[in-house]
Amino acid sequence: MELIRTAEAMVAWADDARRSGATIGFVPTMGFLHPGHASLMALVRPRCDRLVVSVYVNPLQFGPTEDLDRYPRDPEGDAALCRGQGTDVLFAPADLYPTGFSTSVAVHGLTDTLCGASRPGHFAGVATVCARLFGVTRANLAAFGDKDFQQLMVIRRMVRDLALPVSIVPGPLVRDVDGVALSSRNTYLSASDRTAARTLHQALFAIRDAAAAGETDPAALLALGRSRITCDRLDYLELVDAETLQPATAVGDRPARALVAAYYGKTRLIDNVGVGPALSWG
Ligand code: AMP
Repeated sequence: MELIRTAEAMVAWADDARRSGATIGFVPTMGFLHPGHASLMALVRPRCDRLVVSVYVNPLQFGPTEDLDRYPRDPEGDAALCRGQGTDVLFAPADLYPTGFSTSVAVHGLTDTLCGASRPGHFAGVATVCARLFGVTRANLAAFGDKDFQQLMVIRRMVRDLALPVSIVPGPLVRDVDGVALSSRNTYLSASDRTAARTLHQALFAIRDAAAAGETDPAALLALGRSRITCDRLDYLELVDAETLQPATAVGDRPARALVAAYYGKTRLIDNVGVGPALSWG
């Protein structure tokens, strides 16, 4: 596995690979890698000739009071995990943006709700870094986890709207043995927070199961979910149309998604689950 530290070197490597006829698969991450990230690498590895994984904690997607400075890091562990998944290049730049970088990519509509409402500017930061990473890595395909469901929908929309030459491959959410969604931020949790965090997926599963048993009223489903959650502060619990991310008016006919964001101390966790018919990724 090759370690590449600058955007210029990444472009040169990727251009070489593309000239030789190789296809490039790509998994963008912020590091502190876990089996959720590994699952995306395993998804892409058989579909491409070269696998590139990036580790870059993107300042553009953090708000002024968020955890940019204390975001967990583990360069050696990350390299070992990438090597174990057959990664060809670990792209870990100290800085990704050129001097004078002046571009921002904003995806409207889809970003007005959920995490977009509580983290202003977050998805513009995500879309901008992904657009630059797609350019720098020359990726033919890129995997994103549906752990970050809204992010996945935003990136798909950006790629479609801008006709970017990259295919987006969605990967299923990977959970820990206790059911908590794997996240680099779980490392911040105390033992008691960790126990309480289990109520997030339990609430989502309760919503999904009640819908499967015939409950179609979003208000009733959300009340059920809310009654199950223990946290310091609930940012949101919502049931939305899986395509538009607008509040679901009835559950049953169309794919819906139940999503939650909750704080344990300063740590904000997110989770989601499909409700009703499965979403077709087309
Ligand atoms: P991050 O490093 O948190 O920015 O995540 C990088 C990629 O890994 C994103 O596409 C995430 O959706 C994905 N990811 C993070 N956690 C999980 C998980 N538990 N299951 C599946 N994918 C995940």
